[in-house]
Amino acid sequence: AISSDGLLLHYQPQIALRDHRVAGVEALLRWPGFENGSLSPAVFVPIAENNGLMPDLGRWVVENAFRQAAAWQAQHGPMTTAVNLSAVQLYQPNLADFLLQLLERLQLNAENIDLEITESAVMRNVDDAIAAMKQLRDKGFHISLDDFGTGYSSLSYLKRFPVSRIKIDQSFVQGMDISAGDIAIVRNVIRLGHDLGLLVLAEGVETRGQLQRLSDEGCDLVQGFFCSKPLAAGQLGEFLKQGGGLVH
Ligand code: C2E
Ligand code: MG
Ligand code: MG
Repeated sequence: AISSDGLLLHYQPQIALRDHRVAGVEALLRWPGFENGSLSPAVFVPIAENNGLMPDLGRWVVENAFRQAAAWQAQHGPMTTAVNLSAVQLYQPNLADFLLQLLERLQLNAENIDLEITESAVMRNVDDAIAAMKQLRDKGFHISLDDFGTGYSSLSYLKRFPVSRIKIDQSFVQGMDISAGDIAIVRNVIRLGHDLGLLVLAEGVETRGQLQRLSDEGCDLVQGFFCSKPLAAGQLGEFLKQGGGLVH
């Protein structure tokens, strides 16, 4: 699939609650052509990782997402494009050089890119991960801690991670409709993030109720089906042209 153009990226808008505009998009890998539509990257990315395919697959994702980011930059002005990095990519010694060369070729700035790294990827080798993240931060990339609250990191690590934002895992966000415990967690993760000087994004927002509560709690950004599903690049272009944001 990598070598025969069998993959594509979809892009899901990330909306700033301050002004209800699209602040960025997250690139999500798609491998279409299976009997019932497609296979989730949550399934095939780990398989690729365990079979030595991740360097190629990761490179494909980054190159394509950056190229699309450069095109949107030219058409729609400043917008962050978020790219998921796997653990394997994070620990590659030449990662920063590879990313910087690509930026230069595309005339894109590091500030336009947000690198999403899961808590569990960081925890595989904390010291090396922190060193790699520091190097990327120093070059100007944003870094998000993805699926926050589901990995095995402790709060003592959080203060050492050189990240610019945390993404609250969708399980907590969706639980807010029914569980006082999830409301308490979301409220306090937002507070904790802000007190540490980080932006907070809530993932997997599916209902108006969740959105309203996140807004009341001062969450910075939201992403989820309630705002928009992940879209093909062309569809996202239309979404942006029509003003994007929260049309509800
Ligand atoms: P993630 O980075 O946490 O991405 C969010 C996932 O939640 C995506 O699933 C997205 O389609 C889904 N989602 C978004 N809004 C909602 C919502 O409102 N409700 C629900 N139920 N789901 C929502 P997807 O695309 O299947 O990706 C799953 C995971 O696969 C991602 O989780 C990420 O960890 C990984 N992944 C996806 N693309 C890439 C990639 O290019 N590289 C790497 N290394 N991993 C990727
Ligand atoms: Mg992500
Ligand atoms: Mg996530």
